[in-house]
Amino acid sequence: MSSDAIRVLSDGTLAYRDRRVGLYIRETSFRGGDGRWEPEERSLPRFNVARCRTLEAMWLSGRAHRYVVSTREDGLFDLKIQGSASFRALRVCKNCLETLDWQGFQSADPAEREAGVRAFVLRDFFDRYGRQVSPGSG
Ligand SMILES: [Zn+2]
Repeated sequence: MSSDAIRVLSDGTLAYRDRRVGLYIRETSFRGGDGRWEPEERSLPRFNVARCRTLEAMWLSGRAHRYVVSTREDGLFDLKIQGSASFRALRVCKNCLETLDWQGFQSADPAEREAGVRAFVLRDFFDRYGRQVSPGSG
């Protein structure tokens, strides 16, 4: 699915057709920034729920096609890690929480931010912002 049709709503969240959605990168690896293999959850890409700095940079650099839409609410994502299908938990992007000021994120200190990322639950996000959007709005 192309992310070309992703809309940014007036509240900063993302929609595809009539659904509020998350965006994430399906094809990934555990390779860390320094090139070592890091079989750690924290080295996986984050999922996005808002028009954050990370997504802006991806859009500007033409790499948005790597992102796919998810409407799941359980925090699990279909991934392809080093070519193998995998079903895993991802963490939310902290820039998204910053953009939305999720639960006071903008004024939180680093430890509180880390706790906020760990505690983020997609179901709470959809409960607050809503699942359905009107196809033309935003
Ligand atoms: Zn983000």
